Amino acid sequence: MDNWTNNDKYIEKHLIKEPTALKRSTDFIRTTNLPQMEVSPAQGKFLYMLAKMKNAKRILEIGTFYGYSTMWLAKAVPKGGIIISLELTERFVIKAQENITDAGLANKVKLLNGDAKDLLNKLIADKTEPFDMIFIDAHKPSYPEYLKLCMKLSKPGTLICGDNIILDGELANEANTNPKAAGVRQFIEGLEALEHVESTALQTVGIKGYDGLTLSLVGEV
Ligand code: MG
Repeated sequence: MDNWTNNDKYIEKHLIKEPTALKRSTDFIRTTNLPQMEVSPAQGKFLYMLAKMKNAKRILEIGTFYGYSTMWLAKAVPKGGIIISLELTERFVIKAQENITDAGLANKVKLLNGDAKDLLNKLIADKTEPFDMIFIDAHKPSYPEYLKLCMKLSKPGTLICGDNIILDGELANEANTNPKAAGVRQFIEGLEALEHVESTALQTVGIKGYDGLTLSLVGEV
C-alpha cells in the first residue's frame, strides 16, 4: 500500500503537472470530513488524455462532487466545447461552481443539480445532442439505469467510462449482495449484453487504494 502511494506521488511529480487551481480544489476537500471521492491527479489526467485523444467536444459527467474530474475534462475540450455535469447534492454543486470559476473554466461547464436519472431523462426528452464521452462516477446501485439512459445520449464513437467498479476487490464476489456490488455487476453485464458496444475494464492501484474503471466504445447498431 505504501508503494502504491509513493509510486503515485512519483508519477504525479514527473508526469501530471496538476494545474494550481485543481490542486487548490483538492486541498480544500482535505480540510472537510467528506469522503475523498474525487479521482486522483493521475486518474484525472488520464480522463483528460482520453478526452483529448477522442477530440471530445461534448462530455457528460454523472457525479460532479467538487468538480475535480469535471475540471480535468473541461481542460481537454476545445473552445466551444461543453461538459454537462450532474450532481444530486446542492452544496457540492455550489462549491464545484466556485472551483470551476476559480480555474477559469466556467465557460466550458454546465452543472445541473438533481437526481441523475431525472436529469438524464430530461436531457433525453429535450433531444439533447449526443455526447462524445460520458463519465459515470455516481451512485453505484444506479449504474445499470444510468447505462440504459446514457445509451440514449450516445452515438457511434461515444466513449463511456464507469468509475469505481472494483469495490475493494468485491466485484466478482457473488456472495456479496450489497447494492453497490450488485449494481456494478449488473452494469457490467449490461455492457456485455450490448452487441454494438465494445468494452474492457482495468483494475488500478494508487493513492485512492485498489479500484478500477470500465471503458466502452459505442459502435454502429
Ligand atoms: Mg469515482
